[in-house]
Amino acid sequence: MRAFAAAGFWDTFRHRLVVTGELVCDTALRVGAGTEALLPSASDLPVVTTGGRPYIPGSSLRGVVRSQVERLVRTLEREPRNGRGACDPLEDTGWCIPRKEMQDLRRKVRERDEGRDDWLAQQVWERSCRVCRIFGSPWLASRVRFSDLFPLGETHPEVRDGVAIDREREAVKNKYDFEVVPAGTRFALEIMAENLGTPAERSLLWLGLQELAEGGVPVGGFKGRGLGRVHLEHLRVRYVDATDREALQAYLVRRDWREAGTEERQEWLNAFFAECGGEAGA
Ligand SMILES: [Zn+2]
Repeated sequence: MRAFAAAGFWDTFRHRLVVTGELVCDTALRVGAGTEALLPSASDLPVVTTGGRPYIPGSSLRGVVRSQVERLVRTLEREPRNGRGACDPLEDTGWCIPRKEMQDLRRKVRERDEGRDDWLAQQVWERSCRVCRIFGSPWLASRVRFSDLFPLGETHPEVRDGVAIDREREAVKNKYDFEVVPAGTRFALEIMAENLGTPAERSLLWLGLQELAEGGVPVGGFKGRGLGRVHLEHLRVRYVDATDREALQAYLVRRDWREAGTEERQEWLNAFFAECGGEAGA
């Protein structure tokens, strides 16, 4: 099944935004093993290894940021559709375009003589919620890409031992070891967003990151054991607005990005709240 990626809407370069920074572990992060690490729940931030080197999959962090954004958007807009609100990506019936509706759209598109892809892309876009439009859905490609996060400098995973309790017999069932990356480990963060063309769209990504930056988002497995707390540092937001010829030239010739400072990011947030009806605050 094909999601509408660069085709149609996004094949032109209009805006590129990059966020860099560091993800700092306040507590140890568990290094997951096997399928458990590859199939995290929405709030999990697993550490996996490649060639013995630990890293956090970018898609996992994107999932964490996305669920923050969903929570925020839901408090402001109830109806998840038509560029508003946040659907529930965990359940098919909660999607802004459920599978059944997509089948109907595909049936309709076959009755058309021409411009099928454009028409379908347009239908998908119009029906998608605010969050899917940025973070993607089964029918729509994400415009935000999180690179895998690798540790800065040397990292030596530590071995901890855990016990599994047999609840019925209230006895220790078995002991097992697991690895963690220690508190204080820093991971390099890089996020690239293509064509977040409006300030409100940019603010949504920023809002999600802000929550994470302040350390308010519990992530990762074994939270009950005090593992998996992180925050972000040295966040920088830079962008190129390709509709501004001078800025585009500076970028193409010298790789000059424009820095979005506190004031500009505040303007993005204001634009977002204005779109949501304004009553939710400035
Ligand atoms: Zn949605």
